[in-house]
Amino acid sequence: MPGEACEAGPSHPSLYSYFIAMGFSKNIVEKAIKKNGEGNSEAILETLLTYSATENPYLKNEDGPIESIARNYVDGLEDDSSDTDDFDDLEFIEAPPGRDRNLLTLVEMGFSAEEASAARDRCGLDASVLELADSIHAAHMAKDSHGIVLGSPIINKPNEATFYSTSRKKRILMEEKRKHRRNSHHGSRRSEYLKKAALDVDIPKPMIGFSLPFQNCIKRRNLPDSALGPPYFYYENVALAPKGVWDTISRFLYDIEPEFVDSKYFCASMRKRAYIHNLPIENRFPLLPLPKKTIQEALPSTKKWWPEWDNRTQLNCLQTCTASAKLTEKIKKALDDSGDVPSLRVQEYVLAQCKKWNLVWVGRHKAAPLEPDEIEMLLRFPKNHTRGGGIGRTERFKSLGNSFQIDTVAYHLSVLKNIFPDGINVLSLFSGIGGAEVALHSLGIRLKAVVSVEISEVNRNIIRCWWEQTNQKGTLIEVDDVQKLDGGNLEKFMRRIGGFHLVIGGSPCNNLTGSNRHSRDGLEGKDSSLFYDFFRILDLVKCIMGKKF
Ligand code: SAH
Repeated sequence: MPGEACEAGPSHPSLYSYFIAMGFSKNIVEKAIKKNGEGNSEAILETLLTYSATENPYLKNEDGPIESIARNYVDGLEDDSSDTDDFDDLEFIEAPPGRDRNLLTLVEMGFSAEEASAARDRCGLDASVLELADSIHAAHMAKDSHGIVLGSPIINKPNEATFYSTSRKKRILMEEKRKHRRNSHHGSRRSEYLKKAALDVDIPKPMIGFSLPFQNCIKRRNLPDSALGPPYFYYENVALAPKGVWDTISRFLYDIEPEFVDSKYFCASMRKRAYIHNLPIENRFPLLPLPKKTIQEALPSTKKWWPEWDNRTQLNCLQTCTASAKLTEKIKKALDDSGDVPSLRVQEYVLAQCKKWNLVWVGRHKAAPLEPDEIEMLLRFPKNHTRGGGIGRTERFKSLGNSFQIDTVAYHLSVLKNIFPDGINVLSLFSGIGGAEVALHSLGIRLKAVVSVEISEVNRNIIRCWWEQTNQKGTLIEVDDVQKLDGGNLEKFMRRIGGFHLVIGGSPCNNLTGSNRHSRDGLEGKDSSLFYDFFRILDLVKCIMGKKF
């Protein structure tokens, strides 16, 4: 083990070879040993992880999981005015709690989140990364030899075998990171090519998830014990993410298989999303009345003007921006100039623009973008949900474009109604305009308490207005940044409201979506790496609930 190896000085190669075998470069191993001395392998590993984080271009930009948490806490310190209306005595701590960080490090090392949590349960909250890694390995060995997983605490002394298992995982991890680094450092043509190739994710077709309303479940699943709720959790993001992203998200979330659903099966507009959750999947029910599923049924006034050659029956995904007036003017001119039946070329041009921008027919030769209230209707928000209260049109499009499609999400969440007949406490992360809250309320599930975490003030205002307009009787607690949530303030919230039944959220997709050509950096991108906060916070909630706070 590293501690023992430390007895041998630098002249003894084992300490060097140990860390080099883990995938760290000779150079930084030398530096780390020099910095910490040879007696403290844990500190050496810590330094190595820090060095390699700064070496990594993603982490250098403070985008990686470990770095971003460190940054968050620093930010929390700089800005000590917590933006919470309801709860103004939040305390922020200086550094990420070692235990959060340890879990993240273990998952980074290639262990599953489930294994990492189980090891922490066995070894205690204060166990070091190496103790935890060794405990996981010991559990593997026990499982291999007895065919069972040990449930009782195993705090084995690290030995050489466990060393090398850990180092294998670490090596794989470092190799992955090196590959990432190589790719991002290469010439733009190569990285453009790779970015395009990365678009090709394998998603199931048809994208109906595990079931659609009034159909039997096509799936049976056995979730690992450590994933079972409460708390239930529900994580959402774009389905068409770069290759490997959903594998990684799934690995962090108990290896649960994502449920890929296109909302076109629920409403008149497409929206391809994936959801990872631990909700039961039997006995779901949809919101009634069922929405209209074709454009002309959903927007009947368009029927009169719809040209025969426009064969669309459903809209494409509702985006965060809208077509310019110039474009609709150009389309009108092209059609006016072509007489009664436009040439095939004009038809093709107009149709391509209509598909790209989701234009609908509002007059003769007049194609127009959807109005925000039409988008609200398609997503099944209450009319004027995003209107007034100081929100501008552009912001409305942006917030609506990012939000949940309520029918889809409500269908998945419907199972909670029987489980919690008296209502639920929700931790709503990245709440946006409150898709989760609206879905639960529409299902008739009482919102006893909602801690809503959303960085945009405009969005927070929308949720607060909706809360007032719908005469909610429960407690709404607002927090402005997921990065400000730590074990301390979560525990206070949970004491105050009595724990969470549901942790729900879809972190920003900016760096994942195919429409973003500039910073499609995957899960390590500046905004998308906030996914790690979802995982971190969920884990904290589970941990605090496990303690029976
Ligand atoms: N599901 C939501 C929308 C999610 S989009 C809905 O139904 O409306 C992602 C949201 O995360 C955006 O609203 C964005 O403003 C918010 N966000 C981005 N960074 C954040 C942070 N650090 N903390 C909290 N919210 C954040």
